[in-house]
Amino acid sequence: PDRANASLLDGLDPDQRAAAEITDGPVLIIAGPGTGKTRTLTHRLAHLVVERGVDPEHCLAITFTRRAAEEMGERLTALAPEHAPRLTIATFHSLGLRMLRELSGRAGLTPAFGIADQARQLDLAAEAAGDEQTARRLLDARSRRRGADEGMPPELADAADRYTKALRQSDLVDFDDLIGLPVELLESDADLAASFRDRYRWISVDEYQDVDDQQYRLLRLLAPADGNLTAIGDPDQAIYRFRGANVGFFLRFREDFPGARTVQLTRNYRSSANILAASLQAISPTTLVPERELRPMGDHEDDRVGVHSAANERAEASFVARTIEQLLGGASFHSFDSGRITTDATHGLGFSDFAVLYRTDRQANAVMEGLTRAGLPFQKRSHDRITDRPGVRPILAELAFAPTAGAASAEPSVTDRLLRAADAVIERIPRAEREEAAVDIHTAVDLLKPRAEECGADMERFRDELALGVEVDTWDPRADRVSLLTLHAAKGLEFPVVFVVGCEDGLLPLRWPGASPEGADEEEVREERRLLFVGMTRAQRHLFLSHAAERVRQGSARQSARSPFLADVDTSVCERVGEAAARRKQRDTQLRLL
Ligand code: ATP
Ligand code: MG
Repeated sequence: PDRANASLLDGLDPDQRAAAEITDGPVLIIAGPGTGKTRTLTHRLAHLVVERGVDPEHCLAITFTRRAAEEMGERLTALAPEHAPRLTIATFHSLGLRMLRELSGRAGLTPAFGIADQARQLDLAAEAAGDEQTARRLLDARSRRRGADEGMPPELADAADRYTKALRQSDLVDFDDLIGLPVELLESDADLAASFRDRYRWISVDEYQDVDDQQYRLLRLLAPADGNLTAIGDPDQAIYRFRGANVGFFLRFREDFPGARTVQLTRNYRSSANILAASLQAISPTTLVPERELRPMGDHEDDRVGVHSAANERAEASFVARTIEQLLGGASFHSFDSGRITTDATHGLGFSDFAVLYRTDRQANAVMEGLTRAGLPFQKRSHDRITDRPGVRPILAELAFAPTAGAASAEPSVTDRLLRAADAVIERIPRAEREEAAVDIHTAVDLLKPRAEECGADMERFRDELALGVEVDTWDPRADRVSLLTLHAAKGLEFPVVFVVGCEDGLLPLRWPGASPEGADEEEVREERRLLFVGMTRAQRHLFLSHAAERVRQGSARQSARSPFLADVDTSVCERVGEAAARRKQRDTQLRLL
């Protein structure tokens, strides 16, 4: 385009551009996976500050994970280098923390207050409640009350007060406070709320389908009904109901913000036609967006979705490893039904182009063993909080007691202290248990080190980041490794090759062994279907859905049937794969022996 007319919106398609050009008033952008929602938000923000002259200090972009915030920050640094550092790009929790640091005095805290991890919460709650069981109920009720605005059960009220007092006396907040406290402060002081509204005049929220009540309340306090709020998301990807998220806020956006304009993005740039078709079929029985329009734009070669039946989880993991090896070698890929041999133009695939997704973190073990047997490197991440991982807590405790360096000039970086703390911790483990426990510690160090390096010598920042972090925040897109992720952790990401393993009744939808299918909550089952939809739509070029006929769950081997969701995927877009490849391998071995 003509240089003089070149715009930061040039990289967008007409729908995306139309969405990004609306800079004033509330906007709802409804769009399916891979339609460039995140990309649209990013370009819109750059356009706003560079081409519309909006002060970056007035812009707030809310993402779902820290990783997503970082990525958006990087892109904005490339698009608008002078303005990017002054934009606020945050998750709800990091925004809450930022507000609380500023308002600490009003909440009875010092500006250097800490964030209690779950173990510390439990200690304090047990003291307040008298026993551990009541303590757990108390914490649970507290999260739920904050999440869903329920009352505290009367018998827990006193203990809850004692718990909160104890937190504050130790200059601590807990995770629920991070958004709950700013909401309380803003709700009780109209001037304060007005001053924040004045600061954040342009707000955008990615993954709006997964906001919870507290986050919603905070948004309503920050954005007036005619405010410049852009909400973007896909109701069919709402997967955090178990944590209090409520897709209802997305669905009623136009009632909350009556003047809102609505834009749909309809072009999918991520997935091949067959992957997209299969995904849409899988979600269709209970879709929340029946009028959805979504068409593939990619020019990827068009393999059908591979469905693999394995005897057990070990065989399933071998299938995954074998298929990765084949695709890495650019080798031919054998399908079972047609006997067709597709020579795959996958030259140039690296380990990082593969992701294995699963419903429960437990399932990762079999996959890790399979990849290890095949010598394939991997990185595994869940959506759990970092501080809840085994190994992390002892290191952090050690860091807290480590003497702070004396002379300012000799102040070591956070990384040195982290490594030293880990060595001490390991030394203290009794020799007999050391080897096993050290694995946890080393894994924890691997997770923590990149963060520590970023924080330089700023120990306080390091602590905040850890307190807020979930494992997937430390997922490294540049590492040359296969990614092992829970379906929850895979949200927003994309990979050329995706395996969704464990497509079984009982895992997708998830059900505890022994629980009857009749007892399942319908809304829960719908959410499980959405999880599969999220998993399938991460794939760009190849998607494999596998299931095992037998799997060890809770200590004993159990038979399982294929996920009922697979029945909705038409045979014209998928095919059975794997067996032929296994047989071929066997034959090759025999040939070599001859
Ligand atoms: P999800 O629902 O999974 O979060 P999304 O709607 O946020 O998906 P993005 O991650 O923003 O989608 O984009 C998906 C892919 O499509 C990315 O690789 C992105 O670079 C590419 N893409 C988006 N818009 C365009 C475009 N106009 N032209 C070319 N590629 C695009
Ligand atoms: Mg996205």
